Amino acid sequence: MAVNFQLLLSEIYREVLPLQSQGALAYYIPELAAVNPNMFGMHLRRLEGEEAAIGASDVKFSLQSIAKAFTLALAVSLIGEKIFERVGVEPSGSAFNSLVQLEYEKGIPRNPFINAGAMVVCDVLIDQLKNPKAEILAFVQKLADNNEIRFNEETAESENKFGFRNHALANFVKSFGNIHHNVEEVLDLYFHICSIEMSCNDLTKAFLLFANHGKVFSTGEQILNSSQTKRINAVMQTCGFYDESGEFAFTVGLPGKSGVGGGIVAVHPEKYAAAVWSPRLNAKGNSVMGMKALELLTTKLGTSIF
Ligand code: GLU
Repeated sequence: MAVNFQLLLSEIYREVLPLQSQGALAYYIPELAAVNPNMFGMHLRRLEGEEAAIGASDVKFSLQSIAKAFTLALAVSLIGEKIFERVGVEPSGSAFNSLVQLEYEKGIPRNPFINAGAMVVCDVLIDQLKNPKAEILAFVQKLADNNEIRFNEETAESENKFGFRNHALANFVKSFGNIHHNVEEVLDLYFHICSIEMSCNDLTKAFLLFANHGKVFSTGEQILNSSQTKRINAVMQTCGFYDESGEFAFTVGLPGKSGVGGGIVAVHPEKYAAAVWSPRLNAKGNSVMGMKALELLTTKLGTSIF
């Protein structure tokens, strides 16, 4: 029997609503601490084009770490697997902004989704692109088929001002020689990519790249080959949810990426992309309602990649 996806999302919304008061905003970034904590939006887009939405699915929010999936995809499209000589593919088992591991692993970040790893990817993009900010934004706009997507300059600036730990990380990696450009330039780009604002609706369109063997959903342009897409999906599965990637694989069973803005995007290769936004985070930094909503989605559909 054909699934009624709209009904499915309504049912999920009803079931996650009791969790609405659980968790806390990302207080360490002043702009994020000012968001209405009770927002919830979800969007599902199937590769064949069918879509379903509930709540604030077209309200833009701060991508934060979700943007790291886009910069990784762009870097892989430009220099291929060579990127993995400078950043690993193993879960870190420690916080996304931890300095500890970097010391004994000599400045090679465990994966491209912890902050230090994303900074190394930004360093590579500065090498490869003439105008990195504009070209990264254009890349994301193309994936989402939406020219209105922008950086939020206030968020980027406030992170730069208060991101003492990120400044420490970038300088630390630079001390090992794994950041080649000026630290301030790399951090400026890093804070800008984190500040990109998109809606769940935009995100499902953009993430279908990873469900579609590296092809842009709206144009069919091949950006990554199947093997590169598989590798990025594998890293999203094992490292995409902070120190809760095991839990996400266990309860949801899809690759994806979360951010401290409260967004989570997950992908079922060859089938669909699903995005949820709800700003209250659990202790690991993942959206409380978002995690549950995606767990319910794969449970009710009875499909995951496992
Ligand atoms: N801009 C945030 C930071 O560097 C990203 C954190 C995240 O979403 O994981 O702290």
